[in-house]
Amino acid sequence: MSVVGFDFGNESCIVAVARQRGIDVVLNDESKRETPAIVCFGEKQRFIGTAGAASSMMNPKNSISQIKRLIGRHFSDPELQRDIKSLPFNVTEGPDGYPLIHARYLAEQNLKAAVVDCCIGIPVYFTELQRRAVLDAATIAGLHPLRLIHETTATALAYGIYKTDLPENDQLNVAFVDIGHASMQVCIAGFKKGQLKILAHSFDRSLGGRDFDEVLFHHFSAKFKEEYKIDVSQNARACLRLRAACEKLKKVLSANPEAPLNIECLMDEKDVRGFIKREEFEQISAPILQRVKAPLEKALADAGLAVGDVHMVEVVGSASRIPSILKILTEFFGKEPRRTMNASECVGRGCALQCAILSPTFKVREFQVNESFPFPISLSWKGSVPDAQNGGAEQEQLVFPKGNPIPSVKAVTFHKTSTFSVDVQYSDVSDLQAPAKISTYTIGPFPTLRSEKPKLKVKVRLNLHGIVSVDSATVLEEEEVEVPVSKELAKEDAKMETDEKPNDTSAPGANETDVNMQDSKGTAEAAGVENGVPQSGDKPVQMETDTKVEAPKKKVKKTNVPVAELVYGAMMSGDLQKAVEKEFEMALQDRVMEETKDKKNAVEAYVYDMRNKLCDKYHDFVTASDKEELMAKLQETEDWLYEDGEDETKGVYIAKLEELKKQGDPIEERYKEYSERGTIIDQLAYCI
Ligand code: ATP
Ligand code: MG
Repeated sequence: MSVVGFDFGNESCIVAVARQRGIDVVLNDESKRETPAIVCFGEKQRFIGTAGAASSMMNPKNSISQIKRLIGRHFSDPELQRDIKSLPFNVTEGPDGYPLIHARYLAEQNLKAAVVDCCIGIPVYFTELQRRAVLDAATIAGLHPLRLIHETTATALAYGIYKTDLPENDQLNVAFVDIGHASMQVCIAGFKKGQLKILAHSFDRSLGGRDFDEVLFHHFSAKFKEEYKIDVSQNARACLRLRAACEKLKKVLSANPEAPLNIECLMDEKDVRGFIKREEFEQISAPILQRVKAPLEKALADAGLAVGDVHMVEVVGSASRIPSILKILTEFFGKEPRRTMNASECVGRGCALQCAILSPTFKVREFQVNESFPFPISLSWKGSVPDAQNGGAEQEQLVFPKGNPIPSVKAVTFHKTSTFSVDVQYSDVSDLQAPAKISTYTIGPFPTLRSEKPKLKVKVRLNLHGIVSVDSATVLEEEEVEVPVSKELAKEDAKMETDEKPNDTSAPGANETDVNMQDSKGTAEAAGVENGVPQSGDKPVQMETDTKVEAPKKKVKKTNVPVAELVYGAMMSGDLQKAVEKEFEMALQDRVMEETKDKKNAVEAYVYDMRNKLCDKYHDFVTASDKEELMAKLQETEDWLYEDGEDETKGVYIAKLEELKKQGDPIEERYKEYSERGTIIDQLAYCI
């Protein structure tokens, strides 16, 4: 089984695979290590990756890229609104309030795909909905993600796992700064022998290489408007070409003090020429450069470290090659950032390593990744403590504070006896630009309860992907048991309580905590998060487990209460299934088209090859009339390929080749027979 890591970038994708001897980056069809993150919907098939990028200029409106910026975001999100302005394809608001991408396409039928275990890198700032959307996309693509891992954490893992000199007791603090195509992410990780701990994450979700392209794009579009009287914004293809040229220019400026920009026939048949110095580029991009420091400061503050406590700084992400960015980093940390990592491959490699660690089929060096969740999560519900109008005052309980370990399970105790709802929400949305409310869980109906003060234990899980859900709800009722309890039974009880492991098997080492924070007023509605630390008088079964065998004992009866989930904006399972089928259809169509092209090429190749051979090495093995007949047939086929046969089905090309071969094969056979005989005679002669 493959063990794969994906770095799905805004500009390019890296796929790495774990093998016994180490991590290999997978080469694409063109033998390249990086593949453009673009899908072009052609007339009859999709062109993906390099082929997609090649087709995008001809078909900009149906070339879909930077999907990572759109996934799981609301259409009205101001950032999304800004992003779609510079995208060549059409994005509108879908019926569900999420972006709907328009592409013209056709497809058909069905295909089975192998499921692949993988680990996918995601930006640390991805919201619950975005994380769920990535998982859905993976399912549609036939993948089985063992973990969504924060990109900077993947980088930290790829850094630490090979280090042989990590300290046993001290901690080596390393800051990782990733500046990619669309965003900047920072993490500070503390390394010890055999483990890493994420101390802080920070980010600017809109500070990346493309923002510099955009500055250059606006600079030159304004210039060209003035000098050449053309408005590139009116022409999708001209926009694409100018953006591509600006990106190239930006890269040239990383290594040179100045650079030209020339584009032939950009628009209205006009050739344009431009020029810029690095100094001027830095001036016009000052507003972006000024923003680089904030995430660095935040990461340090959240990690509780002073600049001097950071022992090393590693920069990754290809936009970090911009010299002025490096200057800012150097000044901030008071030391030169290092580039020991492969800047474009480290995320993909880290993902493959994480996948190998999680996969049962692989043996990897022991290395523990202690991840931290970047957002605080709380539960909120209506209490029954009367509120004048609502009948219940809104209550909120922090469950996972910012920086909570991933994965983690916590049990919240409620004193409820009938159906109620709890919302899962972000306690603080200032970093997020997402609605606070994530999901609502309806818990109930309850069984008929005998005890007066039953407790409801609700398990909330922060899983390995960084997705929060309410897993289960159990009513605990204390019952007087008349009969003496046997030792064995008591043991069973204790075991049941402590054995309750998270049922997510892909979450090894889940931090299961039960914190019991009794409401200060001690009201009946108070909820608490339990953490296994015994608290005043409100202990569940643990107290019953010191077995006084002969005494009558209280027994706790546990009954599961149904939990119904509603995640705002998430894909319904029926729609997901439809999307899986649609993807099968489109993948099949792509494959059919690729095979059709191959078969057509095979006919063409046969025509040229046979024609040459008939005049050359097959000359003595064919009669003049047979040769003439076959030559005529080859000519006829060649003409057909450029006319009626230009756009035929796979079957027609296969039949055509068969037809030619019927005449050609006997000639080829005769030639082969003769030359083999010749070789044997040669060999015999040699032996003698
Ligand atoms: P993201 O991490 O935002 O999802 P990504 O992983 O695809 O995107 P990278 O491949 O790390 O991004 O970086 C791509 C960006 O780096 C592009 O904007 C590209 O123009 C820029 N870039 C590449 N080489 C250079 C260079 N030599 N100088 C400046 N910028 C560069
Ligand atoms: Mg990246």
